[in-house]
Amino acid sequence: MRHQMRAEYGPAGASAGVVTWHIVRDEDTVAMCGRELDGTGARQDASLWTTDPDHNCHTCGALFLRESPYLPGEHPE
Ligand SMILES: [Zn+2]
Repeated sequence: MRHQMRAEYGPAGASAGVVTWHIVRDEDTVAMCGRELDGTGARQDASLWTTDPDHNCHTCGALFLRESPYLPGEHPE
């Protein structure tokens, strides 16, 4: 199984920037925390999870780290 990050946008849409990054499994559009995400939104590799922690979904982060103990890079504090 692979994980990737998917962007959640606010009411203003993608032009206003990413509100929260969630983690999905494979090509899912439902985040690990249960949130449904726009399948056309931005996504990026899960190895970038630690690069912008202020915008990370905490629930997804906890579930992701439990499921992927071998995450490349550093774990968040
Ligand atoms: Zn989430």
